[in-house]
Amino acid sequence: MVTRNSYDVIIVGAGPAGMCAALYTGRSMLRTVVLERGTPGGELLNTEKLDDWIGEKSILGWELARKFEEHAREFGAEFVTANVSRVTRLDDGTFEAVTDTGEVYSAPAVILTAGGTPVKLGIPGELAFAGRGVSYCAICDGAFFREQVIAVVGGGDAAVEEADFLTRYASKVYVIHRREAFRASRILQERLFANPKIEVIWNAVAEEITGDSTGLMNAIRLRDVVTEDVRMLDATGCFVFIGFRPNTGVIDGHFDHDEMGYIRTDATMQTSIPGLFAAGDLRSQLTRQVTTAVGDATTAAIAVEKYLKARTEGGVVVPQGMGGYAV
Ligand code: NAP
Repeated sequence: MVTRNSYDVIIVGAGPAGMCAALYTGRSMLRTVVLERGTPGGELLNTEKLDDWIGEKSILGWELARKFEEHAREFGAEFVTANVSRVTRLDDGTFEAVTDTGEVYSAPAVILTAGGTPVKLGIPGELAFAGRGVSYCAICDGAFFREQVIAVVGGGDAAVEEADFLTRYASKVYVIHRREAFRASRILQERLFANPKIEVIWNAVAEEITGDSTGLMNAIRLRDVVTEDVRMLDATGCFVFIGFRPNTGVIDGHFDHDEMGYIRTDATMQTSIPGLFAAGDLRSQLTRQVTTAVGDATTAAIAVEKYLKARTEGGVVVPQGMGGYAV
């Protein structure tokens, strides 16, 4: 039998954005459910340490995730372990979120905070050393590699730009690319080639990440795709930039998005679907940081409160300096 669960707001995804949104909607006395397929924390759980969360000079990713969850629960948000497979807006303007086990959650507003997923290499050692040398975010983790020899995998804009950025910290950065030419834009390539701390290893693929007895990575096994030679490259870090996919697949129906598939929102975080808000890494924006995710989420949660008020009162609420809500 299908169980129907009714709330004021459904939050899909319990990364920093989802948990912050839950804190604010809970605090506004909205009945809030957070649907998350895994452990709450999102990308924080793939991050060993943060030194850019204001107020904490250094904090472990899992520790910050735990604090976020405790804080959100404090204001009454319910956390449910569930894998959402579809979010549909019905004709009456309410939403249904259906899980892969057939549970149905309904609410007049949804905040989508399902984040995005860096494309993985899929090689042995990659996941085992994630947060222990392997990283998918240069701004988040670069500072942990001061005066170390590290590698970047990829040949697009992200890899080439971040390799250059990482030389602020690392003593040497190898860029490993599977072909003999980058697809990155010319200007980024020129900057990279002019950087004396960078060495490009062309026609090579990473086949394995290895580590030492302390559990930290220490080398990458490389295969030259032309000669088939195999060698170990000593490196204490491996930054993987081979693409990033926003987790927008659950949205049933058309939504406005940019050319990379990230959701476009207005200044209140509302998507092109009325009542569907988005916050964090799946939103089209300049940067994807914990601080920007929680900023988005705060706006989205407060906007949801106003949206629901307008819906109940049948009117249009106009937040200062913004458009009204069509409900
Ligand atoms: P991307 O452009 O899709 O490039 C991915 C790179 O990873 C390619 O060089 C690709 O190699 C390589 N790759 C893919 N799968 C691989 C695998 N399994 N093993 C090894 N290498 C693999 O992705 P992106 O660099 O993340 O950029 C995404 C979008 O964001 C792009 O449109 C980009 O322009 C934009 N972006 C722009 C900026 C900027 O303008 N400053 C910065 C970052 C991102 P091949 O080339 O051989 O396919």
